[in-house]
Amino acid sequence: MSELVERDRKVIWHPFTQEKTAPPPLPVKSARGTRLFLEDGREILDMACSWWVNVHGHAHPKIAKAIHRQAAEMEQVIFAGFTHEPAVRLAEKLLELLPRPLSRVFYSDNGSTAVEVALKMAWQYWRNQGHNGRRIFLAMQGGYHGDTFGAMAVGRTSGYYGPFDELLCEVVHLPFAPTWDGDTGASAREAVALRQIDAVLKRHGAEAAAFIAEPLVQGAGGMNFCRPEFLRGVCERMREYEIPVILDEVMTGFGRTGTMFAMERAGVTPDLVCLSKGLTAGFLPMAVTVATERIYEAFLGDTFYNCFSHGHSFTANPLGCAAGLASLELFEEERTLERINHIGEQNRAWLAEISKMPGVTRPRALGSLAAVTLGGEAGDYHDEIGSTVRAKCLERGMLVRPMGNVFYLMPPACATDEEMNRARNIATEVLREAAPMYAK
Ligand SMILES: *Cc1c(COP(=O)(O)O)cnc(C)c1O
Repeated sequence: MSELVERDRKVIWHPFTQEKTAPPPLPVKSARGTRLFLEDGREILDMACSWWVNVHGHAHPKIAKAIHRQAAEMEQVIFAGFTHEPAVRLAEKLLELLPRPLSRVFYSDNGSTAVEVALKMAWQYWRNQGHNGRRIFLAMQGGYHGDTFGAMAVGRTSGYYGPFDELLCEVVHLPFAPTWDGDTGASAREAVALRQIDAVLKRHGAEAAAFIAEPLVQGAGGMNFCRPEFLRGVCERMREYEIPVILDEVMTGFGRTGTMFAMERAGVTPDLVCLSKGLTAGFLPMAVTVATERIYEAFLGDTFYNCFSHGHSFTANPLGCAAGLASLELFEEERTLERINHIGEQNRAWLAEISKMPGVTRPRALGSLAAVTLGGEAGDYHDEIGSTVRAKCLERGMLVRPMGNVFYLMPPACATDEEMNRARNIATEVLREAAPMYAK
């Protein structure tokens, strides 16, 4: 065991990790592009974008420079009663990219808080207007929205929060209608789900403060895809009951699904949108919740009581803003979306091949994301297929984070054809080797 790992084992508590049984962590010395460079000289191909945050690859020099420049100028400043160029400019740029009625950018510092802020805004939006009966939230079954309390409540069915169940606020979960490549049952499945949603809305529509969903792809819930038609159908129904729609684009935002935001392809314009992971291209923890003018105006009044009394120490951190601005420039300079869609086309051809293997089911791809389910129905996060596949990929020099029996690749836009071929070959080989575990 390396000296660093020994020290780590004495003082660190790692996230999402069973510390008793997990193998020792791998010491990383540096990272560049698609690669992690380990202390012992090994190179790891990062096909998980280091927990889905990385957009252009690791340590892009343009972003590193932008942060350096900003740090020498002004590292952090209180954002109540003060403002600064990086925060205003990033907000302007984001609003140029987002659909119209979205017009107000609220900064925070991770995906969970972006969701927490959206839920609190929706909740208070009603209360500021005297509608105290809007007392529950609606969310999608299998959705994941982060690890703080509100986020856990709306993501309760993702299966991560057992011990906290009795602490979570009231949420009614709506059926999700999944789809995949070559699926012929989608519209029938959607019709059933929409009928059930109609029934829920009849009962609870008037008491719902907001509806939250991940557009087109449920990430941590198992890379479940739905068709744009389905999401549109659900959101149109929310409008009928005047229920604000929150789109959680924390994972799908910033090109992940091949357009800047998944809502573009879905054709849905939300009242609130949550962005984080890709916002600084993986450099710094930052998030935004963007609201429509209508939501914003409900907080205007003559007393403090009406205002959105929420904020974080590092709200609108200038370094994060500088990273975000540099990343958005890279989208143009390096034609990031084109690159992502190029990876996607090749992924689709690969999925068509591997889904001929016994037990490899539900192939699905969007943008740079490609996923399959091993052995039919999605299992749970703790399914041992996931950890076996992950370990086998790591032995071959590739980082992946399967979720139970859902295997996926999520490369950064800078991945070359050669790197992607290598990644797909390793994946094919490992899935073949692990087949006795899932192909029955
Ligand atoms: C990761 C994720 C979150 C939570 O973000 P954190 O930065 O991990 O708190 C919320 N929503 C979605 C869709 C996510 O993928």
